[in-house]
Amino acid sequence: MNNKIKILHLEDCSSDSELIHSLIERGGIGHDYFVADNEKDFINTLETENIDIILSDYSLPGYNGNEALKFAREKYFQMPFIFVSGTMGEDVAINAMLNGATDYMLKNKLERLVPAITRAMHEYELEIKRKQAEKTLLESEEKFRTYIECAPDGVFIIDNTGRYIEVNKSACLITGYSKEEIEKMSIRDLLADESLKDGQDYFKKLMETGIATSDLWHKHIDGSMRCLTINAVMLSETRFLGFAKDITNRKQAEFALKESEQTLVKQNTDYLNLNKEYAALNEELTESLNRIQHINDELIITKAKAEESDKLKSSFLANMSHEIRTPLTAIMGFSAFLLHPGLSNEKIENFVQIINASSLQLMTIISDIIDISKIETGQITIESELININNLLNELWVTYKKLVELKKLSLNCLCDRPNNVIQVKTDGNRVKQVLCNLLNNAIKFTKEGNIEFGYKIKGNFIVFYVKDTGIGISQENHALVFQRFRQVDATDNRIYGGNGLGLSISKALVEKLGGAITVDSELGVGSTFMFTVPFIEKIDSTVSTELTTKPDKFMHWNEKTILIVEDEANNHAYIEALLSVTNVNILHAWNGKEAVEQVKNHPDISLVLMDVKMPLMDGYEATRIIKKMRPTLPVIAQTAYALSYERKNALEAGCDNYISKPINRDLFMEVINNYLS
Ligand code: ADP
Repeated sequence: MNNKIKILHLEDCSSDSELIHSLIERGGIGHDYFVADNEKDFINTLETENIDIILSDYSLPGYNGNEALKFAREKYFQMPFIFVSGTMGEDVAINAMLNGATDYMLKNKLERLVPAITRAMHEYELEIKRKQAEKTLLESEEKFRTYIECAPDGVFIIDNTGRYIEVNKSACLITGYSKEEIEKMSIRDLLADESLKDGQDYFKKLMETGIATSDLWHKHIDGSMRCLTINAVMLSETRFLGFAKDITNRKQAEFALKESEQTLVKQNTDYLNLNKEYAALNEELTESLNRIQHINDELIITKAKAEESDKLKSSFLANMSHEIRTPLTAIMGFSAFLLHPGLSNEKIENFVQIINASSLQLMTIISDIIDISKIETGQITIESELININNLLNELWVTYKKLVELKKLSLNCLCDRPNNVIQVKTDGNRVKQVLCNLLNNAIKFTKEGNIEFGYKIKGNFIVFYVKDTGIGISQENHALVFQRFRQVDATDNRIYGGNGLGLSISKALVEKLGGAITVDSELGVGSTFMFTVPFIEKIDSTVSTELTTKPDKFMHWNEKTILIVEDEANNHAYIEALLSVTNVNILHAWNGKEAVEQVKNHPDISLVLMDVKMPLMDGYEATRIIKKMRPTLPVIAQTAYALSYERKNALEAGCDNYISKPINRDLFMEVINNYLS
């Protein structure tokens, strides 16, 4: 006891009270001492002084200890009450103890008084504390219950079989069932079917680990489903406390969110796909735009080309007209002169030469026009036969030597392998045509110096070249000269004649033969034109490399008869004139039919010169019949220079050879000589 205690002593004998008081003081108990000797003072002191312990005599005048005890127990239930009496028997004492007295002792045995007070006070204090603790516990339990009851979350207690033992109001609200209903159910009864498995797992975990959390769908009494998030802990082996929160709205929101997320993802994918489509469309558009741009550019170029070609056409027409009129005027003019009587032989020869040259010039123009239109329409055909290159170049040398000399130039022919037979499988006439174009140009554009032509073998190609010391071509015009109608000097008052077609024809022919044509030229120094033709070497020593052309003086055929089959009187006259120097006998037929008759009637005919295009019966038909009658009689066809199919048809009909029109005199004589000698 730390503080002073307040002792109320009910005693009518003052000496006894003094004795007891002094005993207490001596016992060292800190106290305040109050004495009452009647009921009134006793009750009054109890009510006013906050008394801690009562000491009471058993019998008093007008009042007694039992009544005091009764009063004290009724009003101050736990307060220690010790009887201190001089007369108290054992039965009375037991009865007093049964009525709630804390202790009793006789006045003649007071040595127990102080320890009894101390013990009683100690027990009283303990009792008060216990009561206090009990009260606090009760209060806190009450509070806890109130909290649980008022908790916004559902709270429940289940046993180890899953049965609900106790639930709060919120649990009822969440499920819709009453407290009594739930407390007759187990967690299985409330779980939704889809959460049964999760519920089992959650309960198992709770049993094993003592704690579990899960979101489980529960059945509401109204048939709807509610998602509850459950947090449960183990209280004991048979008791589990759980908290349930209704998260249905959150779950639904989550679902909605998920759904809208999925919708968004889908929309996003749709947008991405749409974007891709747009990108592809865009690409297509850009491509179309580019194509349009490209077409536009091409159109601009085409327009420029069309304008250019328009210009070219006009200049070509003017040029052509000039080119055709020039030789035609000469032919017409000098032919008229020839009719004048009394002309000297010298003059006549001179005029005829001019007429011949002009005719040749005209023929070249016509051939060029035919060739260019064939090239334009893709009709140009290429033959393939074995050509003796050295012979071909020799022929050209013979033909051009005289022409070159007329201009006081020199002509050299340089063959890479002059002593071998170089045979190329190609179209010999086309190769010759290209070389002629180049040689004609070289002669035309060279005033002095020399012209050289020839070939070199380089790998799988044979490279032909024509080199001159003429006016040359500036670098910027090197490509231009191969375009049709293009001439370096395109002015009206240009010095050199020509139609601007030769090189473009040559280029097309060379490319058709599988080669390429180039020029190397310097203005004022000269030009070298080169072109290639595919070549596979094959040496044949049986073929002669000699020049086959023989001078005219050896050609005397006065014992021979030649039948000229020709429907054009002029051509006939020309051929007759050519042959007249050889003293050969000449017969004439105007068509194929007559030719067959003549051969039948004149077994002395040694050679037939057969035109191919004639009325009544053409040259092919006539040849076939003649060859049947006299297989060994040589028949030489006269074919148009530009028409290779005529040559082919002639050979197929049985002709032994052909001569191209316009007729080159030297070649003509040489071919005939080959068959007559
Ligand atoms: P043409 O000679 O009929 O004008 P081409 O097509 O043969 O037509 O030649 C085109 C142009 O190339 C000639 O007009 C000329 O300007 C130039 N050219 C051709 N060959 C030579 C050459 N050997 N020397 C100088 N210029 C040449």
